Amino acid sequence: MKVYFKELTLNTSKLYQLIDITYDVENVIKESGIKNGLCLVFAPHATASIIANEHESGLMNDILTKIKEDFPRNGRWLHNRIDDNAAAHLASAMLGSSRIFPVKDGKLIRGTWQNIFLVEMDGPRGYRRIIIEVLGE
Ligand code: ZN
Repeated sequence: MKVYFKELTLNTSKLYQLIDITYDVENVIKESGIKNGLCLVFAPHATASIIANEHESGLMNDILTKIKEDFPRNGRWLHNRIDDNAAAHLASAMLGSSRIFPVKDGKLIRGTWQNIFLVEMDGPRGYRRIIIEVLGE
């Protein structure tokens, strides 16, 4: 089995933001030369997440609105005693920091309305990392 590891970095410009990384992930799969296997997309961060959903501006705003509604920044969170970003930690804990996709015939399998996004929930940040690991043959 082959293992191909790649780390991407990017910066975010807003407190809450969705950044489409679909084509970056697909390029890494191409680069890897792996035809069949799995692709892990992982954000090594406690206040960001990785999700797969539709790249439509209304929906992208809806997703961020829902996150803000469910995890209000001014909630009575204990973590806010030492940091002001408990809401981002909670949302990241619930949404998860990774997604795994099947790779078949050299291509990532995803639904037509499934793009891959980094969800920034405590930006702006100058240095967000995304680990992409492709396993297979
Ligand atoms: Zn914190």
